[in-house]
Amino acid sequence: MLDKRQFYINGTWCDPIAGQSLEVIDPSTEEPCAVISLGGAADTDLAVAAAKAALPGWMHSDPRERLELVKRILEIYESRAEDMSQAISTEMGAPIDLARESQFTSGTWHITNFITAFEKIEFIAPLGDHAPEDRIIREAVGVCALITPWNWPMNQVTLKVIPALLAGCTMVLKPSEIAPLSSMVWTEIMHEAGTPKGVYNMVNGDGPGVGSQLSGHPDVDMVSFTGSTRAGIAISKNAAETLKRVHLELGGKGANLVFADADEKAVKRSVAHCFQNSGQSCNAPTRMLVERAIYDQTVEQVRELAEATSVGPASESGKHIGPVVSQMQFDKIQDLIQKGMSEGARLVAGGLGRPEGLNRGYFVRPTVFADVTNDMTIAREEIFGPVLSILPFDTEEEALRIANDTVYGLTNYVQSQDGARRNRLARQLRAGMIEMNGKSRGAGAPFGGMKQSGNGREGGVWGIEDFLEVKAVAGWANDAE
Ligand code: NAD
Repeated sequence: MLDKRQFYINGTWCDPIAGQSLEVIDPSTEEPCAVISLGGAADTDLAVAAAKAALPGWMHSDPRERLELVKRILEIYESRAEDMSQAISTEMGAPIDLARESQFTSGTWHITNFITAFEKIEFIAPLGDHAPEDRIIREAVGVCALITPWNWPMNQVTLKVIPALLAGCTMVLKPSEIAPLSSMVWTEIMHEAGTPKGVYNMVNGDGPGVGSQLSGHPDVDMVSFTGSTRAGIAISKNAAETLKRVHLELGGKGANLVFADADEKAVKRSVAHCFQNSGQSCNAPTRMLVERAIYDQTVEQVRELAEATSVGPASESGKHIGPVVSQMQFDKIQDLIQKGMSEGARLVAGGLGRPEGLNRGYFVRPTVFADVTNDMTIAREEIFGPVLSILPFDTEEEALRIANDTVYGLTNYVQSQDGARRNRLARQLRAGMIEMNGKSRGAGAPFGGMKQSGNGREGGVWGIEDFLEVKAVAGWANDAE
């Protein structure tokens, strides 16, 4: 249990001015594992004021100073690996091995990639030989509100805090109220690294409270948000009054096009990817489109794989999947499984209720539906649980049409040995990311979506540029500093 109910404002841990407290629930046991304070408007105002006061100094600091700070953060982050993994595993239910090997390490990966990408940012660059007295200056957007979800907590926190710092922005982080423990550890890291006062602030709170206070705050210049499309719309509307820059990383309904010439590991890889993190990833390949020639055998293979997927508590070591994050998510997933059955999809594995032997905790049965059509609710809505839909197709054109027939556009997947087809589809699929034959994106690749999956690009050079303004200068003195 956390006995401290604290925020981090202007370089100091402090108590909330007023507000309510909230229990953090361990999803494996349904028992409270901590209590946090939910901030109110006065706390938000204090944090924003601290960030605003620190902005002039930080935005004009030497970029090398900012880089040194990020290197210290990385070093300390690595030394806190176990605390961080335990915090993530407890708060959101990732099995401890996944927390250690993927959740924690996603932070290390992003920080390291940002350090490399930073070298490529030219803060003052010439426009070209045709305009010798022109310069393009890149400068910090300003005070940023960083609002993060619970599903990959350190992935999302590092994808926002680190580029904002490198760009010279100051910030207020509001982590998910469902998974705030990892961000408390993160804030200790930021403090220990010697982050200058006011540059980084953290206030716990919920969406209607601190979340909307930040997105409507006149002194916040930018909101970087990761979460549901619902909240992304609310934030965009609220931010419109003050015309803030709003960057959104939202939901997805990834199509995975499996052709008859897919490699032999394609199906196994795809199912594991869909169920990883208990299906709670925005880029999960949840719509498996399978070419008719291999449809029946693939459905059978997926059924076997789903039935072989074990489910268990987050604290246990192993390759099982954990619970989903909350009672609310559990109920939502059950409701969608019910809809799948009532709308006529064929249930081939899993189904309603908890897996056998698990009577407590938000555990969901790894579930597979076949003969799904793209107009069914389970093909249209993001489920955010271990539920896979399989849809047959006859031609590449049909597969492409089904894949693109969604409001989302985050990640699509292709499994095929035909290089020309892969390149064709890479150009035609409407999504921010296309991953083929199990290849994951390389270091420094941008993460982000199209359509209702959002508009931001996180990671690498693009991730830093998201936090920079572009200023055109004419009349630059070439003979002065
Ligand atoms: P959520 O939208 O409920 O909450 C996310 C964060 O937004 C939390 O910190 C919450 O307190 C805050 N929030 C909620 N309503 C708000 C409001 N009106 N104003 C300001 N802040 C508000 O989402 P969640 O349930 O925590 O996360 C799951 C969702 O996140 C899924 O839809 C998933 O696809 C999406 N997601 C997207 C990406 C991506 O990069 N595209 C990555 C991870 C998760």
